[in-house]
Amino acid sequence: MSLPSPPQVAVIGGGPAGLIAAEVLGQSGVSATVYDQMPSVGRKFLMAGRGGLNLTHSEDFERFAARYAEAQPHLRPLLEAFGPEDLRDWCEGLGQETFVGSSGRVFPKAFKASPLLRAWLSRLDALGVRLALRHRWQGWDEAGRLVFTDPAGEILRVTPDATVLALGGASWPRLGSDGAWTSPLEAAGIAVMPLRPANMGFTLAWSEVMRSRFEGEPLKRIALTFGDVTIRGEAVVTAEGIEGGAVYALSARLRDAIEKQGHATLMVDLRPDLPAEALAARLGATRRGQSASTFLRKAAGLSPVGVALLREARPALPERAEDLARLIKAVPLALTGTKSLERAISSAGGIPFGEVDEHLMLRRKPGVFVAGEMLDWEAPTGGYLLQATFATGIAAARGALAHLEIPDAALTRSPSSATRQP
Ligand SMILES: Cc1cc2nc3c(=O)[nH]c(=O)nc-3n(C[C@H](O)[C@H](O)[C@H](O)COP(=O)(O)OP(=O)(O)OC[C@H]3O[C@@H](n4cnc5c(N)ncnc54)[C@H](O)[C@@H]3O)c2cc1C
Repeated sequence: MSLPSPPQVAVIGGGPAGLIAAEVLGQSGVSATVYDQMPSVGRKFLMAGRGGLNLTHSEDFERFAARYAEAQPHLRPLLEAFGPEDLRDWCEGLGQETFVGSSGRVFPKAFKASPLLRAWLSRLDALGVRLALRHRWQGWDEAGRLVFTDPAGEILRVTPDATVLALGGASWPRLGSDGAWTSPLEAAGIAVMPLRPANMGFTLAWSEVMRSRFEGEPLKRIALTFGDVTIRGEAVVTAEGIEGGAVYALSARLRDAIEKQGHATLMVDLRPDLPAEALAARLGATRRGQSASTFLRKAAGLSPVGVALLREARPALPERAEDLARLIKAVPLALTGTKSLERAISSAGGIPFGEVDEHLMLRRKPGVFVAGEMLDWEAPTGGYLLQATFATGIAAARGALAHLEIPDAALTRSPSSATRQP
């Protein structure tokens, strides 16, 4: 007598959300197939590892959860079920020790994603998870079957017992997530909020001197203010404008203001550690024949790019020390637009939480679950993107298990996690 075959779940999208969903499903004895249109999985995850894979953040949970702004009420229970410590445990269970950087961000010790992804894929292979690469999902047919184009360009129709959609956002489309999934979802009557850039740079009209001499120059130890929010950090001058960590942290507010008014003024404090009075006292000293640039470098500790930024704002620099100090503490940058979605770190928009239940199942498509960046949430850089991606991937897989009435086997944990030092 043959054993009954296990339930089949199609996971569409082989980014971190899809792969972690497949892991949960595989551990619970489900036959999971991960479909991806690219020749290999995890391309954006590997790209994220290029600049040091920032997996999550170590700050206290309240602060952490607040990073998700309006999406917090929806993500909070999922982050409670799989939070930053769980993600570190999981990573360590794959042989990749983690550490907390000086900013509180959490990274694997190897700093990159490739060893982690390698270990992860061999675990998935051992669990019997199948990868169907170069399979592009097209949507559903009239019979409700999943429709793919296979590597030969042939149409493949699949009827799994449940489906997890983990197709990503629309930034860096050459890595696979191109946002084309919005059409079949809208055709199925599901609302999709427009995909917009998040954690991106901004454009502004630099002078030719600024562009040609200072493109790529970092502005270190600055503070950026927009409205009532100030962020300390770094930014980088680009040919078309400005980008970098401190800019990304304000990017949602700046983007929304530009969408409404067509422009936004970002204030740069080039010496956030020095009060204006102390700065004015230093600038009140005699110049002794020094050029303005040399004087500003020596008296105010400004870098050449900092001096150039002052001149962009006020080609004729103020004479009075107090006025000059005030300018150094608040250099206005008139932002004119956002960098395109193609170059953004992540995207905002996607499937609103109102379209899914608490298990991330589409209300209009029972048995179809949604995870990762294709859901409508956004967060700054700092590990918040991957953390919510993992938490939603796990929640969607657990939702699929509950839907199929299959007991959920817990994720593999690192035996060392209980004794890990922060
Ligand atoms: C340069 C860069 C650096 C980053 N650094 C960090 C970081 O340090 N920390 C952090 O938290 N986050 C970082 N991120 C963001 C993070 O990588 C993403 O939030 C995360 O990858 C989202 O995971 P996902 O599984 O939802 O989607 P994705 O990783 O985008 O995966 C989606 C998958 O779906 C597939 N797919 C899409 N459409 C179809 C289709 N029609 N048919 C079949 N397959 C399809 C794609 O090929 C892709 O493999 C970074 C992003 C970028 C671009």
